[in-house]
Amino acid sequence: MTYPNAFIPLSSSKAPKPYNPLMWEPVIGLEIHLHLSTQTKIFSACPTDYYGESPNTRTDPLTLGLPGTLPTTNAEAVEKAIMFGLALNCDVAGKTEFHRKNYYYPDAPKNFQLSQYDRPIARDGWLEVNGTRIGITRAHLEDDAGKLIHPAYADYSLLDLNRAGMPLIEMVTEPEIRSADQARDFLNIVRSIAQALGVSDANPEEGKMRCDVNVSIRRAGEPFGTKVEVKNLNSFKSVARALEYEIERQTKVLERGGKIAQDTMGWDEGGQKTYVMRTKEGEADYRYFPEPDLPPLNITPEMIARVRARMPELPAQKEARLRALEVREADAHTVAYSVSLSSFLDRVLEGYAGKSQNLVNWLVGDVSGWLAAQALDIAQSSLEPAHLRNLVQLIDEGVISGKMAKELLPEVMTGLEPRTLVSERGLAVVTDTGAIEAAIDAVMASNEKVLEQIRGGNLKAVNSLFGQVMKLTGGKAQPELVRDLLNGKLGL
Ligand code: ADP
Ligand code: MG
Repeated sequence: MTYPNAFIPLSSSKAPKPYNPLMWEPVIGLEIHLHLSTQTKIFSACPTDYYGESPNTRTDPLTLGLPGTLPTTNAEAVEKAIMFGLALNCDVAGKTEFHRKNYYYPDAPKNFQLSQYDRPIARDGWLEVNGTRIGITRAHLEDDAGKLIHPAYADYSLLDLNRAGMPLIEMVTEPEIRSADQARDFLNIVRSIAQALGVSDANPEEGKMRCDVNVSIRRAGEPFGTKVEVKNLNSFKSVARALEYEIERQTKVLERGGKIAQDTMGWDEGGQKTYVMRTKEGEADYRYFPEPDLPPLNITPEMIARVRARMPELPAQKEARLRALEVREADAHTVAYSVSLSSFLDRVLEGYAGKSQNLVNWLVGDVSGWLAAQALDIAQSSLEPAHLRNLVQLIDEGVISGKMAKELLPEVMTGLEPRTLVSERGLAVVTDTGAIEAAIDAVMASNEKVLEQIRGGNLKAVNSLFGQVMKLTGGKAQPELVRDLLNGKLGL
C-alpha cells in the first residue's frame, strides 16, 4: 500500500453503514482559481476594484467583447504569476502563450476565454502539506468571466460584467490528495502563500479564491477509478463536505457493484449534497487555438531572477525562523501561516530581549481569544505591537503579575498603553519588604488559632495566612516575596 494514512473516517451517523469504507482509498485532485491583485484587468486598462461596487461600472470595450478591440497582456499579472509559480516550486516557462478556449455563454461576451493550453506559465511544482508533498501539475493565466444573476421568481436574468477580464491564475494539482482534511489543509496553505506574496487576496468570501474538486475512489493499490468533478464550492468547508459526501456516495455505488459516471456535479449548499450538472465536455469541444492578437511571451532567466529577488518571506520560511527562536512547533505554524499574525508578531519582537515564546503565548492565547470574541482580525484591532511588547516586558521585569496583565488586556486591546495604565493606577507589584512585613504582622496578630495549628505541625495552614496577606495587599504583593517573608517569621 502506497499511502499508509490514506483512509479518512467517514462522518459518524447512527444508522449502521452497509459497506466498509476502510476498503476504499480516496483519490483527489484540486483545480484552484485565484484572482491576481493587479491594478488593471489582464488584457486591458480597465480597473479591477469592482468588489462591492455597482454592476457594470468596471467595464471597457474589451471587457464587453466589442468588435475591433485588441488585448494587451498585463505585465503585473505576468510577474505575479511568475512569483506564485516560483513559490509553488514550479518550472517557470521560457516561452508561454495564450490560447482561445471557445464557448458561448452570456457571461463571456468575447465568445471565448483567453487561457493557456500546452504552454502554461508554470508547471511541475509541489507543495508540502504536513510533511507530504503534493504535486502541482501546472499553473496558468486566464481571464475570468462575468456573473449572471438570477433574481428569485423573476422571468429574466441580469448580467454583471465587472468580473469579466479579471486576471486569474488557475493551478491544478496531481491526483495525490488522499482525504478531505488534506484537501482543506492544502487550500489553507495555498491561501497563506498567495497572501504572504501579495499576489492575491485569496479570499473565498469575495470569490477571489475558488476551488473545483476531482474525486474518485479505488481499492488500495488498484488503478485510479472514474472521477467526478464538483464545481461551485464557495468555502473551504464546502470543499471538505462535498468531498466527504462524494467519497461516501461513490463507495456505496461501487459496493453495490455499480459504476461511477464521469459527471460534472454541483454542490447544493442547502441540502449538503452533490447533484449532476452535466456530463463532462471533452477538450475538443473547446477548439483551442493560439490567440492571434497576442504575441507569445518569452520569460527570460533575468526576469525570473528579478521576481525571485523581490519575493517576500514565505510561510514555511517564517515558520523555520520562529522555530529557530525556540517558538513551539504548533504556535510557529499557527503564526507563520497567518499573514496578519506573523507581521504583527515581527513588529512585537523588534527590540524584545526576552523569550519569544512569552510573546507568542500572549498572541495565540489571550490576544487571539479576545479578537475571536469580537470577530476582529488583528490587523483591524487597535492593539499596538509596542503595547503588547510593553505588557509582556512588565511581567518579565516583575512589575506586574500575569494575572494583573490579563486584567489590563481588554484596555490594552483598545489602544491603551500598559506602562501608563500601571503607573496611573499604582498597579505595580509590591516588592517593598517593609509594607509586606507589616501586612504579615497584622495577619499573624489576628490569627492565633491558625498559628497554633502551624506550631502543631499543620503546615497546610500556612496557606491560609498567605492568602490573607495577599488579600490585605490588594493582590499586589509579589507572591514569592510574601512566601519567603512569611516562612521567615514562622521560623519555617
Ligand atoms: P480532465 O481531462 O478532466 O481535465 P485531468 O487529468 O486534466 O482531467 O485532471 C483534472 C484534475 O483531476 C486534476 O486535478 C487531477 O489531479 C484530477 N484527477 C485526474 N484523474 C483523477 C482521478 N482518477 N481521480 C481523482 N482525481 C483525478
Ligand atoms: Mg484537464
